[in-house]
Amino acid sequence: MAKKSDTSKCSFCGRPASMSEVLVPSVDKVNTFICAECVEAISSMLSEYRQENKQASTDEVKMSSVPKPKEIYEFLNQYVIGQDSAKRYLSVAVYNHYKRLAQNAGDEVDIEKSNIIMVGPTGTGKTLLAKTIAKLLDVPFAIVDATVLTEAGYVGEDIESLLVRLLQASDYDVAKAEKGIVFIDEIDKIARKGDNPSITRDVSGEGVQQGLLKLLEGSVVNVPPQGGRKHPEQRMIPVDTKNILFICGGAFDGIEQKIAHRLNTHVVGYSTDPSRQRVERDNYLKYVAPQDLKSFGLIPEIIGRLPVLTNLEPLDRDALRRVLTEPKNAIIRQYKKLFAMDGVELTFADDALDLIVDKAIEYKLGARGLRSIVESIMIDAMFDIPSTDSKEFEVTKDYAMEKLLKANFEINKFQ
Ligand code: ADP
Repeated sequence: MAKKSDTSKCSFCGRPASMSEVLVPSVDKVNTFICAECVEAISSMLSEYRQENKQASTDEVKMSSVPKPKEIYEFLNQYVIGQDSAKRYLSVAVYNHYKRLAQNAGDEVDIEKSNIIMVGPTGTGKTLLAKTIAKLLDVPFAIVDATVLTEAGYVGEDIESLLVRLLQASDYDVAKAEKGIVFIDEIDKIARKGDNPSITRDVSGEGVQQGLLKLLEGSVVNVPPQGGRKHPEQRMIPVDTKNILFICGGAFDGIEQKIAHRLNTHVVGYSTDPSRQRVERDNYLKYVAPQDLKSFGLIPEIIGRLPVLTNLEPLDRDALRRVLTEPKNAIIRQYKKLFAMDGVELTFADDALDLIVDKAIEYKLGARGLRSIVESIMIDAMFDIPSTDSKEFEVTKDYAMEKLLKANFEINKFQ
């Protein structure tokens, strides 16, 4: 160690020995020193560098830890009844999303994003599928509603707000958000009102679609961190959407007619194959194609950016019955858990469950209504039972019917 009285200097910053706590000499070079201040500065640079590197390595996608499409599909099966085709499409698309994240920058072949669009009646599981995927993955995930965009006006200023949720989901870690997944619900609500833009010009829908297009195709967007309208004083966070996977969902009410129209034209015009004519009238959605989305009012550029198109089937009686009891998070299971927490074993007679399904169909509530019906049936028991010492409770068909009759006017409000 050099003494303070020395005339030696730090070889890095030139500080004389007299001005540093200590000068550390080099092992093999005479008259080469480093001062305490430089050691400290280098040490803090090093720990910053290590921290960043650690971050980067944990952010890297390792394909070995990514669930395979079949595993994703099996996982979805535990929560979502039916919808086989949508599950398969989603499983592959999500798997490919990871592959895209894992690819080396600068490769000759660049795997492009496969954003997804799911078409299906309301209450058939579109949001549920998206939520379940989120449960499985470790990328940030956000669900947003396209209807707020129409409300914001045709200038499409607030498109960026779609990304606010994603930023929140990633604790404002921009790098993480840039690899996330966004589910845009009710995408059909921003459709143009007609096929021909010059005749039925619907500026608001088209304006929002143009804004959305920028996000879908990948660009750097300035996101107001608190959401809402832009405030001049708000600091914007730039987010690159290049690697964000977008999953869109919509009921597209009335699209069946457009599909039917296209299919029938096709049959009459080009095909004599009788199998083509056996298209089931009530499930045209199976045959949905990009041109139907165009007829519905999505602009071709948006459709081009949503290359994976899949449909959800309406839930029939059998599927609704399964929805009640089979999924891991099934409604009946939830009520059983609620009762079990009071030490009561809750059971439902089979015909009581059938009744619940019948009512859901009768009131045209679909899967979305099952919960409201069960709630109406269970409300009295949930009120009374915790104050009794019952250890079990069975919901019979008669009990369910009685409670539904009592709550009948209540049920109407869900229609
Ligand atoms: P969508 O987004 O298609 O309008 P949701 O996914 O929000 O419909 O469904 C509403 C509710 O209905 C869900 O929370 C779920 O309880 C139930 N549900 C709908 N479809 C299914 C399904 N295929 N399997 C299991 N539950 C379903």
